[in-house]
Amino acid sequence: MASKIDDDNAVETTKDFPPLLSKKFNITDVKQDALKWNKEWEAAIASSTAADVLKEISRFLDDSFFTPSDIDFFHEDLRSVQNKVAEVLRNLFNEGHFDTIWLLLDVSEKRRHILEGLKGASEAPTFWGPDCRALCPEVTTSNFLTQGGKGLVDFLTRVLEVSESSIKPAFLPNSWWEQASNLPNPWWEQAPDVLPQREISQSTKLLFEVATINRNKFIAHFVLSSALSIIGDIANRGEGMKGVLHLMENTEGYVARALAQVKTSFRDKPLIRCENCTKTPEDIGQGARFMVCSVCKTKLNFEIHYCSKFCQKQDWSLHKRACGKKPVSKGLSGTKGDSLWAFGESNPAVELIRNCGKKEGRSLTSLRDIGVNPCKGKHSPAAERQAQMLEDDRDADYFLFTASGETVRFVIDDPGAKMIFRINRGTIMTQTGDTGLDAMGEYMLKLMSGYPGLSRNIILKQLCEEHGADTTKKIVRLEKKSRERGKSTFIEGWVKDSSNVFGDWSWLGSL
Ligand SMILES: [Zn+2]
Ligand SMILES: [Zn+2]
Repeated sequence: MASKIDDDNAVETTKDFPPLLSKKFNITDVKQDALKWNKEWEAAIASSTAADVLKEISRFLDDSFFTPSDIDFFHEDLRSVQNKVAEVLRNLFNEGHFDTIWLLLDVSEKRRHILEGLKGASEAPTFWGPDCRALCPEVTTSNFLTQGGKGLVDFLTRVLEVSESSIKPAFLPNSWWEQASNLPNPWWEQAPDVLPQREISQSTKLLFEVATINRNKFIAHFVLSSALSIIGDIANRGEGMKGVLHLMENTEGYVARALAQVKTSFRDKPLIRCENCTKTPEDIGQGARFMVCSVCKTKLNFEIHYCSKFCQKQDWSLHKRACGKKPVSKGLSGTKGDSLWAFGESNPAVELIRNCGKKEGRSLTSLRDIGVNPCKGKHSPAAERQAQMLEDDRDADYFLFTASGETVRFVIDDPGAKMIFRINRGTIMTQTGDTGLDAMGEYMLKLMSGYPGLSRNIILKQLCEEHGADTTKKIVRLEKKSRERGKSTFIEGWVKDSSNVFGDWSWLGSL
């Protein structure tokens, strides 16, 4: 090996390392079935230790196979790939709202780009080819798809940070992998096929170093291939990208960003909570043994969870009324019985949707609660009055006033339009900023100008009193923009465009 490193083909020649791990775990050929290939790898990685992996890939090598001068060359080689990676990532993050686009993409599209990344990395000139995957437990589709895809955004951010922190080769820290950093190496002595015996060192240190370089090279190529797959799709307006790009281009960026944020806090599955004490298995920690009501399970195939016999007994006086007769739960927050279980609790955009439900002791929240907010920040007396009226009548979307002072209740039927109107309304009522005021005004003008007792001027006058003298200017500017885009109003256009990504919003109506 040492004699070959001056040769340009040094890295190429090492492609001959046999695919020991792929063989050991009996992994399907990627060309045959990429999804199966990925699933099998993830299972193999999850069930192995770093020591297992290192031992297996170096079965025919020993520590004297590589020399310290090889390492210098490998370092240089790694850094040159990492320079490319850093450049691509900087472009990706600086131009064009990468994270928003990514988060809004359909999950099957996300999976496809990640698989492209994994395939690219497996074909890259590393020593162990696809086997290098086993050195990178963080590079799995399931990790990257967590929190609606935020897993990948966080990973890429970390890769860029680590690359930019130094001009030397960058090594992504990983505690699982580092456990193999200085293992004693008794196993070569036991391998009868390693002959003739060379001088054997006492540890796997050098091998670990080479494997770590290859681990990081695999990661670098994963990032390159997946990023290029996404960039290519954006540039060519690929089939799966069209809906998202359309949404980005035809709506104000902040709406797309808010929605992308909402997606990151979607839960993959409902929480389990004790029906009595409301704790989750995580709350209780180690040794948590949840049970289900067996009568409900057998008769209704319905699961009511309890953390203990004690809690089941305590809850019995309530539960017995429905037990085995009707599938009724308390609908605790985040559980299957909560119609909003998919939404997490920590995200501000989601809070906007959930808000106020809890204040009145209801654990369920519904569309009518969106955008009802205590009036915070600096507001005109007219806006304070509006906020108070909205707080008192949650089914109304806005209150308009005729010239003679009569109140007109404005109520939106379309669930998608209602949601976006109310998100805008909430932003205006809680923040000192006025983002979304134009969209709200434009929509009300379109729908309500012809209402008996109202007119365009009357509505504009009211909105200026509530939200400032330049409100008219802002609304007119948006109306012009909508006309140019061939939309009737921003909100209606948005509902139509977003349906490519989120469906027709009818699910909101059932809340
Ligand atoms: Zn309990
Ligand atoms: Zn029961």
